[in-house]
Order: sequence, then C-alpha cells, then structure tokens
Amino acid sequence: MGKETGFLELDRQERTSIPPEERLKTYKEFTVPFDDDTLRGQASRCMNCGIPYCHNGCPVNNIIPDWNHLVYEDDWKNALTVLHSTNNFPEFTGRICPAPCEAACTLNIVDQPVAIKAIECAIVDRGWEEGWIRPQLPKTQTGKSVAVIGSGPAGLACAQQLARAGHAVTVFEKNDRVGGLLRYGIPDFKMEKHLINRRAVQMEAEGVVFKTSAEVGVDVSFSALRENFDAIVMAGGAEEARRLDIPGAELPGVRLAMEFLTQQNKRNAGDDEVRAAPRGSLTATGKHVIVIGGGDTGSDCVGTSNRQGAKSVTQLEIMPKPPEKEDKATTWPHWPLKLRTSSSHEEGADRDWAVLTKRVVAENGTVTGLECVRVEWKDREMQEVEGSEFTLRADLILLAMGFTGPKKRGLLDRAGVALSERGNVHADEKGYAASEPGIFACGDMRRGQSLVVWAIREGRQCAAAVDEALMGHTDLPR
Ligand SMILES: Cc1cc2nc3c(=O)[nH]c(=O)nc-3n(C[C@H](O)[C@H](O)[C@H](O)COP(=O)(O)OP(=O)(O)OC[C@H]3O[C@@H](n4cnc5c(N)ncnc54)[C@H](O)[C@@H]3O)c2cc1C
Ligand code: SF4
Repeated sequence: MGKETGFLELDRQERTSIPPEERLKTYKEFTVPFDDDTLRGQASRCMNCGIPYCHNGCPVNNIIPDWNHLVYEDDWKNALTVLHSTNNFPEFTGRICPAPCEAACTLNIVDQPVAIKAIECAIVDRGWEEGWIRPQLPKTQTGKSVAVIGSGPAGLACAQQLARAGHAVTVFEKNDRVGGLLRYGIPDFKMEKHLINRRAVQMEAEGVVFKTSAEVGVDVSFSALRENFDAIVMAGGAEEARRLDIPGAELPGVRLAMEFLTQQNKRNAGDDEVRAAPRGSLTATGKHVIVIGGGDTGSDCVGTSNRQGAKSVTQLEIMPKPPEKEDKATTWPHWPLKLRTSSSHEEGADRDWAVLTKRVVAENGTVTGLECVRVEWKDREMQEVEGSEFTLRADLILLAMGFTGPKKRGLLDRAGVALSERGNVHADEKGYAASEPGIFACGDMRRGQSLVVWAIREGRQCAAAVDEALMGHTDLPR
C-alpha cells in the first residue's frame, strides 16, 4: 500500500473525453489518459485490503493492489510484469472491460471505487511506449502441435499461452483478419484495431501461425485437423444472433447489428464497399434509426449511427428502466443494478424501456415505422399495458438483442461434440475438454455470449488444461 491515507485525501477521478461534437467526426478513440501525477494519486486510493475482493471480481484475477502500489511507487516496469502475469491483453480490457473489479472494490461500499481500469490501461500503454513488451520465446519446443479455431480474445489468449509453453500453435480464422469480435464487432471508437495487429505481430514472433480466411468445417476440413494436430481448441465464439419474430422482420430495412457494425469496421480498415458489404452497403446516413436491444451491441449501433449521420437514433429495451443510482447494499459478488449510460448514449439517442415491438410498418416494401406497446413486469412476468400502443418513425431497424449461442452449421456439425442445454459446446471449467478426446473448448463458444475478460480467462485456463493433457503436467497459470 503506497499511501495509507490516499483514500481519505483523494476522490476518484474519471478520465476525460474529447467532447461529443468533436469525436463524432471520426471513428478514433476519444478517452484522454490521466497524466502521471493523477495516476499516482488514483493508485494511492487503493487500501490494500486484507481480503481484496477486486481479485475475485476481476475474471482474470488481476493482482490489483500490487500494481496499484507499484504505480504509486513509480515502478511501472514491475507493475507491467504483475499485470501481464494474469492478463495477456490488458490494453483490450483497459479500454472495453465493464470493470466488475470496480463493483467489487471495498472502497465502493462507502465511497467511489479505485479507478482500476484506467490504471490498468495506463500501465500497459506505457509498457508498449517504452518498448518493454517483447516476444516471450519458449526455452524448449515440446514437439506437440495444437490447432486453435477462432482468433477472438479466447483463441488469442489460448494460442499465446500454448506457444509460450513450447507447443507449435496454428490459429484458424474464418475472417480475413484476426481478432474476432474485437475486430469486427466492437467499434474502433471503443478500441482501435492497431492494438490487435501489434499483439498478432508479437504472437507471430513467439511462433504462432495465423491462417485467415480459413473456416474450419468449410474451407479446412475438421478431419484434416484431427489428423495433423495433437489437440484442437474450439474458440469460435457465440455468433448466432437472436432474431426478431414479428411481422415485417424479414424486410430489407431490418438488419442485424453485427452486419451494420462489421461493415463500418471494414470501411475504417480501408476495405472497399463491395468487399465489405456482400448484401449491399448498409449505412444509417440520413435515416431515422431504431436500435432494438439495450446492451453493449445496441450502444455500439447508436455510436456508429451517429457517426454516420443518422437523422435520429432511438434505442428500445424490453426490460424496465434500472435505477439511476445503485443500491450500495448490493455488494460483490452481486452486480449492482443501475442505469448505465455509455459514451455513445452521451453522444445523443432517445432511450426507452419496457417497450415490446409488435410489427414493422412498411410502404411498398420500404420500412417506414415500428409499432410498439408498453409492458409492465410483475414477478418476472411481462404484461402489455392496454391502450399504450404507439408507432415510431423508422427507416432502418437494427437488431441488437444478443446471441443465442455458437453457429451449428459447419464446424459443430463436423466436430460431432456434445452441446450443453443452452446449445454451447459442452466442456467444464476445469478441464475444458469437449466430449470427444483431444478436443477442448473455451470462450463464448463454451460459456455463451459474455465479455472479453471472460474470454481471456477461459483462453488462459484452457491452455493450461491442454498443456497438462499433452505433457502430463503444466507450469502455465490458471
Ligand atoms: C457489438 C459487440 C460489442 C461488444 N462489446 C463488448 C465490450 O465493450 N466489452 C466486453 O468485454 N465485451 C464486449 N462484447 C463481447 C465480447 O466481444 C465477446 O464476449 C468476446 O469477443 C468473446 O470472445 P471469443 O474469443 O470467445 O469469441 P469471438 O470474439 O466471437 O471470436 C470467435 C472467432 O472465431 C471465428 N470462427 C468461428 N467459427 C470458425 C470456424 N469454423 N473456423 C474458423 N474461425 C471461426 C470467428 O470468425 C471469430 O473471429 C461485445 C460483443 C459484441 C457483439
Ligand atoms: S480486466 Fe476488467 S475486471 Fe479485471 S482489473 Fe481490468 S477492468 Fe477490472
């Protein structure tokens, strides 16, 4: 603990942002990092609790009090070493993690939590700037080979850990670039993509081979992988989007959020319109946009629509509006329920809650509106409010209602592994072993739609399980 009285003397500070009217002109990140003095002050608020709940609140179990102390001591290089000991990619989580660690921070019970996420981001950004982050080559090669299917955060973390343990790792990715949802789901304004490229370069230097535009089960046969690799890790994500089952949902003006977001990320990467948009270019420019779904994906659609110059953006959520302030009596391990306003919401959107969509209104096949009705929730049961029907104007309706699980066609059909009740690949959180020998699963493909930090955790733990299965023991951390 750097300073015993830090939490008494200093309040939590938030990183500032470029104002909405400026940042809406580009797709670049807009959070302004803290200066060194502020970082030291914020780190000094950590109380180094006897039982630091933040460790467990953080899915990768980041050793938060230790790096807070090292930042206060101005020992950034060691702070980076501690941070990397639990998290392969803190520059991703430092930008886009919802920070459950901060909800678990003891200071959050009576005050505002330590600015853990901002400090994490600053440590790793400094590490890259100073050139401290270099490839970590294994001392020996094991002679074993592993195929990792999918290059999202789970696949990347798993591949990096396995390569560092001396295995020959090949990552197969169906998209043209690596990164999974980090690349083609999450918008650049939340996380710029050069951060993924930089890690991929590091991983290649560590021996990882990336094969892109290679869909296993379609372009690459699963049986060839079975023959050529000692183990296979399935980290293909949970890509099956939840559909809207109302009249008119099949019209061309009703589109999946991922189609919309992927196109913009591809445009930002310099891809031409035709390659980026096999079903035709899709933009919100000059349109009244309705986003159905109140989560992260919906919020990303709001931010992207505003950058594209939508006439209006409305976001609808079927659940009731959460309270403005969390109930402080709700402490870790429970996630406090409160209204979360993202930076995209700050940029401008009408948000409405407890709204059920009933029918898409169209003229000559062109979407013109959306019929809705208000609902009330009692004991988790939803009831329509009589006489509360209303129609919103809409030219484009984006569906951001979450994901139901991994796609079954292709890989899963061929692999023949057992699925869980929810339709994910069945494997437990200890051995990560699927029902077929030599096959493992991690990330959203195993646990269902989740978060980047959970994907990194599962990738790391799965790597340890694979290493142990191949070698009889493992030195990889779980
Ligand atoms: C729009 C959006 C915004 C989000 N925002 C956040 C956020 O702000 N913070 C956060 O923590 N989480 C966020 N999430 C969730 C987070 O992105 C995911 O939980 C995380 O990426 C899951 O990682 P993964 O590696 O398991 O899968 P994915 O990232 O989905 O990666 C799976 C990869 O496998 C590839 N693949 C699939 N099948 C095959 C095959 N047969 N052959 C080869 N490759 C294959 C896919 O192309 C993909 O690249 C968001 C999700 C979405 C959709
Ligand atoms: S990864 Fe997420 S939960 Fe863990 S310390 Fe960073 S912000 Fe907190």
